[in-house]
Amino acid sequence: MSREERREKDKDLFETVEEVFDTRTVLNVVELMRRKVIKRLAGTISAGKESRIYLGYTYDDKPVAVKIYLTSSAEFKKGILKYIAGDPRFEGFSPRNTRELIYAWARKEFRNLTRMYEAGVRVPKPLGLYNNVLVMEFIGEDRHRYPLLVEAYEELEPEELEIVYNKILEEIEKIVCKARLVHGDLSEYNIMVTPDLDVVIIDVSQAVDVNHPNALDLLKRDLERIEEFFRDKIGLNNTRDSKEVLEGLMKCLEKRKGE
Ligand code: ATP
Ligand code: MN
Repeated sequence: MSREERREKDKDLFETVEEVFDTRTVLNVVELMRRKVIKRLAGTISAGKESRIYLGYTYDDKPVAVKIYLTSSAEFKKGILKYIAGDPRFEGFSPRNTRELIYAWARKEFRNLTRMYEAGVRVPKPLGLYNNVLVMEFIGEDRHRYPLLVEAYEELEPEELEIVYNKILEEIEKIVCKARLVHGDLSEYNIMVTPDLDVVIIDVSQAVDVNHPNALDLLKRDLERIEEFFRDKIGLNNTRDSKEVLEGLMKCLEKRKGE
């Protein structure tokens, strides 16, 4: 590529991300390109309050999802501190500024994603991280992401919903008993559903270790939300009582303690 072409390409990138991101964030994206983790960004998948998700492509033209954390949200900052405090992995960590805190938050999502992925949980495969930019497997096809559970459920038959429900319980068991984490924000908004009715768990930045002081409360809330969605909102008949599911999880945790 000539210098002129490269300049054109950089200009395109800056135009895509400049509006929401500061120079340092743009440079963080460029660094991931220099490291050959991604070749280019190709469009917006989602624009939330705390992060933006872009479709990107790798050097061998595989689609990836690029999650970029906004470094300027004050509310975000308050929320983050609550989760990082009490997590032994962040002991002795005292961020000097918001930027550092956001970088730590992105690192936390990357680590949680890696830990779940290695434990066999169906999450997007983590591919790379640089400061506030996280690259992961794209969950979708033909440039379109697969729907979230909240978007997919109305099109599904009761039998299909039951399959999805049971798969979610299986993923929760792997998250808790194998990865030894609690998701902490599990709901119909953070579960994607593939055309084969597989479920993919996303948005794991707030997940905590099972030994975190808030882990039990967060796990109870996760289980209740899933039960409420399937039992009350959808009216599925065969849901399990979340207390009973919790007991099962506590047992498998106890059993694996020495491992
Ligand atoms: P928001 O504030 O919008 O909820 P968030 O911080 O919760 O954002 P995520 O839930 O991780 O961020 O991602 C936001 C949206 O981007 C998801 O609801 C999903 O539609 C899409 N998305 C996230 N990860 C992927 C992925 N790996 N592949 C495809 N789409 C994804
Ligand atoms: Mn989310």
